[in-house]
Amino acid sequence: MKISVVIPSYNEEGNVFPMLEKLIPILDKYDDYEVIFVDDGSSDNTLVKLKESNKNNKKVHYLSFSRNFGHQNALRAGLDYSTGDCVISMDGDLQHPPEMIPDLINKWKEGYDIVYTLREDDKNTSFFKKLTANLFYGLINSIANINIPKGAADFRLLDRSVVEVLKNIKENTLFLRGLISWLGYKQYGIKYTPHERFSGKTKYSLKKMLMFAVTGITSFSVK
Ligand code: UDP
Ligand code: MG
Repeated sequence: MKISVVIPSYNEEGNVFPMLEKLIPILDKYDDYEVIFVDDGSSDNTLVKLKESNKNNKKVHYLSFSRNFGHQNALRAGLDYSTGDCVISMDGDLQHPPEMIPDLINKWKEGYDIVYTLREDDKNTSFFKKLTANLFYGLINSIANINIPKGAADFRLLDRSVVEVLKNIKENTLFLRGLISWLGYKQYGIKYTPHERFSGKTKYSLKKMLMFAVTGITSFSVK
């Protein structure tokens, strides 16, 4: 049984080593694993840190984009290159707690094909983030033909069979959380409270967030 972990990273030089320090002891408990970082055209030293990490541990791999293609495309590249029996995608800033990985894997072992996570707001969630998230999920669920649970992030486990299906879907503007909801399969949601970003600032500017929202809505709604 091999576990793949895919981590899109855009200017996350301060997070690569701390992330691996948490992740590796957890993954070492399983038969086999691979970590695939996707450097999304970083302009800082993320790639240098990734090369060093690969030297120290051959189970840590990286892909490097020629420019910034965005989080969703980085996720897709990671899925395309993954070889595990299941693939866990998570952010590279430690907001998605690595300690939850065993819970995701246990649910998969129980027979779920997709184990997704639901972000619960807490004191660390800004008023702006809460407001925009509420508006977005309210809007998309009312006018689109899918139901996306509020707080669903790109922190989830996919069985190999689901990854193979996703690889064959050639959408050129990706909205993965919509596609995942649309796909069906046996799904299970686990709630979690996000941690604070370990190092650096958010890479989702207001413009990127709006583009993402428009992609989601236009991908799944005729209206
Ligand atoms: N990310 C990326 N490309 C981008 C923007 C973000 O690969 O163009 C990565 C980023 O490095 C992080 C994850 O996607 O690992 C989520 O981004 P971020 O933490 O900035 O978003 P937030 O948590 O603030 O919504
Ligand atoms: Mg983050």
